[in-house]
Amino acid sequence: MNKILISFLLLIPVAIGVYKLNRSTTFQLFGEIHARIDTHQKVVALTLDDGPNEKLDTVLSILKSQQVKATFFPIGNLMEKRLMDITKIVNDGHELGNHSYTHRKLSFKTYNTIREEIEPTDQLIRKAGYTGAIHFRPPYGMKLFMLPLYLQQSNRKTITWDVCPEGNPDINSNPDKMAAFVIDKTKNGSIILLHPTNDGYESSLKALEPIILGLKKKGFAFLTVSQLLALQN
Ligand SMILES: [Zn+2]
Repeated sequence: MNKILISFLLLIPVAIGVYKLNRSTTFQLFGEIHARIDTHQKVVALTLDDGPNEKLDTVLSILKSQQVKATFFPIGNLMEKRLMDITKIVNDGHELGNHSYTHRKLSFKTYNTIREEIEPTDQLIRKAGYTGAIHFRPPYGMKLFMLPLYLQQSNRKTITWDVCPEGNPDINSNPDKMAAFVIDKTKNGSIILLHPTNDGYESSLKALEPIILGLKKKGFAFLTVSQLLALQN
């Protein structure tokens, strides 16, 4: 075998390792990452990513009628255009997290670029009146070296998820199947991820209320991410 071929073969496991590290919801090289917490209590956190857009009002009215507090991870540049929407989220008592300013993949970005994605987004969250801890959810869940390092050095926690029905082609066009999947997979301390305001995710919006009702029926109480983390600590 020639040297080029040997080098190529040796690189395969490295590439697989980098791929897995980038997408792991439970491991990162620096700082804290949480996909769920260990608890005997029947508690769960509902996390709603992206937006805001015109569908937010529907989401907020479902949460209000069900008396559920959720954690929203909106996108910075959309928040800037619809800051009143973010204020509504705050006034309804939900938690806000940072999901970057432009929602681009941050895996191979520099420390400075990462700072430019995170800090203005935090400022918008504060401008909307939110005063609680601000956790970070990486766009597409992707992170390698610099992002976890930045988050650790700036004292931020990475929040991922352990229940997400949307990537599953068998169920993501059917709200009933989606709700059944979430209700079945949710464990004590789970963090559920949904994108109910995104275009193409109409099933997630339709499944939101059935998910809440089904989990309540199984005895689950809904907490914000910070309330959930406080139980673990
Ligand atoms: Zn997102």
